[in-house]
Formats: sequence, C-alpha cells, structure tokens
Amino acid sequence: MSTSAELLAIAAKRLYPNYKPAAMVLSRGRGCELFDVDGRRWLDLCAGVAVCSVGHAHPKHVKAIAEQAARLMHVSNYFFNEENIRLADELCEKSGMARAMFCNSGAEANEALFKLARRHAFTKGEQRTKIVAFHNAFHGRTMGALSMTGTPKYREGFGEVSGVVHVAYGDLDAVKAQMGKDVAAVIVEPVQGEGGVLPAPAGFLAGLRALCSEHGALLLMDEVQTGIGRLGRWFGFQDTGAMPDAISLAKGLGGGFPVGAMLTTEALAGALPPGTHGSTFGGNPLASAAARSVLSILEEEGLVRAAKQKGERLAAMLTALAEELPTVCAGERGEGLLRGLVLEQGFVVRDILPKLADAGVLLTAAGERVLRFSPPLVVTEGELAEGVAAVRKVLSALSK
Ligand SMILES: *Cc1c(COP(=O)(O)O)cnc(C)c1O
Repeated sequence: MSTSAELLAIAAKRLYPNYKPAAMVLSRGRGCELFDVDGRRWLDLCAGVAVCSVGHAHPKHVKAIAEQAARLMHVSNYFFNEENIRLADELCEKSGMARAMFCNSGAEANEALFKLARRHAFTKGEQRTKIVAFHNAFHGRTMGALSMTGTPKYREGFGEVSGVVHVAYGDLDAVKAQMGKDVAAVIVEPVQGEGGVLPAPAGFLAGLRALCSEHGALLLMDEVQTGIGRLGRWFGFQDTGAMPDAISLAKGLGGGFPVGAMLTTEALAGALPPGTHGSTFGGNPLASAAARSVLSILEEEGLVRAAKQKGERLAAMLTALAEELPTVCAGERGEGLLRGLVLEQGFVVRDILPKLADAGVLLTAAGERVLRFSPPLVVTEGELAEGVAAVRKVLSALSK
C-alpha cells in the first residue's frame, strides 16, 4: 500500500491537470464516511456530487453489482438483457414516462435530449432547431450539452453548437419572447444545481409547460442532479404541475456506478428511430443492475420521503447558522437533500473547502458563493449535525 504523499507525487506528474482535487487520496468508504490511504476519516456530505445516493459500500448495492458482474456484464444493444428491460419498466413506472433510453453520464443524457428535440421536429417536417436554455444552467461538458450550459466561462474557447439561446432562470416573459415556430425545446433544471442550488420560483415550471404546449415546443427537464429522490420526491418535476416531454437522469441513478438515462413520453417514441442514436455501453446489464439496486434500496429504506424530512432538518440547522453568522452567511436555499448555504459577497467557497476538509467534512461549491450539501440519502440527522458543526467552526473563524 502506498502513502498519500507517494501517490500525490505521481498524480502531480501524470494526471491530466483539468481538475484541482483536494490533496488526499481516498481508498474506502462506508455509509457517509470516507477514509484515505493513510486511514484518516472524513464525513462525506457531498456524495461525489449528489451521486452516492445509497452511501458508500451499501451491502445490498455491493452484492447486486458483484453478483451481476459474475453473471453478465455487457452484451451491446444488438441484444436485450433482462436487467435493462426491468430497469426501463421501473423508471417509467415511477416517473409516469413511457420510454427509457440508456447511456453512461449526465452529459450524454442531455445530448440525447438535444438530439431528440431536433429530430422530433424533423420527423414532423417542421423547421425547429432552436433550443431555449437558462443562464447559470449546467447540462454537461460534451459540445451539445455544453452549448446548452448557461455559464459563459464553461463555454469559452470551445466554439458552439448553433441555435441555443439563454435567458434568465425564472423569467417567463423572457422565455415567451423567444418562443415561436422555430423553437424545438426548452430545457430546464427543476433546481439549478451547479449554478448555485437555486430552486425554480413558484409557478415557473408550470408556466414553461404552458408556453411549450402553446408553441409546439418540447419541455425537457434535466433531472441529472434532482432526480432519483434527491429532492424528497422521486423526480423534481413531480408536484410542480409541469409534466415534461422528456427528462435526463444520471448522477444518483447508479449510486456511484456510471449510468445515465433519457425518459420520454410515448408521443416521442418515433423521434429517434433505429440508427439515429445509441451508445455501446448504454443499458449494459451491470449498470442496469446497479441502478435497479439503488431504486430498490431507496424504496425498502423509505429514503425518498425521508430525504424531505432530513432536508428540512438540515435547512433549519443552516438557517440557524446563517442567523448566528450574518457577516459570513446570507441564508439557506434548496429542496430535500440538495441544499446550499449562501455566503456573503467577498467569500469564495472554493477557498473554504480545504479548511472544511481539515475540519473533517467534505462538501462542494455550487457557483462562487454557495456551499452545497448533497449528502448520501442514507445520511442520519446526527451526521448532518456533525457536518454543520464543522462548518460552523470554520465559518466562525472567518467572521472574526
Ligand atoms: C452533473 C450534471 C450534468 C452532467 O453530468 P455528467 O455525468 O458529469 O456528464 C448535467 N446536468 C446537471 C443538472 C448536472 O448536475
């Protein structure tokens, strides 16, 4: 076994430097705890960016993956496999959607939504290529998904896929001004995740639904971060009065195993006929078994409903903290177990994360000034309190 120091030296030389990871090398986890190669422990309240929904090394998740790996891992989409058929059925059952197409990441799922929207218009013989997206939206790093991403610094230097416009999140009038016979789709996150844990204003999603229906455009929802129980309901669109035409999923779906999906209504089943889209790995038995086990663990342990209650407890703790430290914290926002502590002007979350790690808690930034909590859904109230206490200690020192 190598030490952190030895491995960090190799990493500095050999890993492509497109990231700036914390100076630790993680080697194992259990629930909401992570340990590095030297045996040091951290409380994980980011879950690999809202991914490890059932925590680390959940025995049922581990067993499902191990057994499936020993049985059948990959066959390609030239052939059916049982795990994938059952996963499609379960996701459609839970969402009220009719069809599922699988891939391996959030960007790929959004790429599929993008192609679906344009291809659907093409199938109907309509000239619709325009996509309306939002400022601060995050849809992924491939060229199509990147073009829909609403943060200019992520797009800078890469050129663009033409035909995407961005308007202010929450501004229905701005969307309305863009609508017309050329619009293929509007794409929206039910809560903007990377953009700063910003929930959709009341009535916004329903308003988008009405505008899309009126103008013959598709309403696409990026549920990569909000889906699979994160908000205290299975999907972010539920309870909003806005039924999308298609959604994208990834992050929490595999609980750490890479898997993404696009779910669509039956009306869109003809938009991408055989030969128009696909993925070699998409829907493989191993990824499908991992995702099915996540769904069944969330179900058995009642973790989706619990995410709502635990999220409210976390919100109360963060609100109290913000009131206690008004020179550092501006307030709290979010839904379920996707929460942000908004810092005051002048504070940069990215610079505070190493101090939090030193204090034993792992969190991530969402935008410049939002400290994001996206813990495993198996988190306990005690663990949330432990995390908030560490944050309190670090932020108190900054308030002096
Ligand atoms: C993370 C994220 C993506 C991109 O997912 P990848 O798996 O990194 O490609 C897309 N949309 C949203 C809302 C996300 O949070």
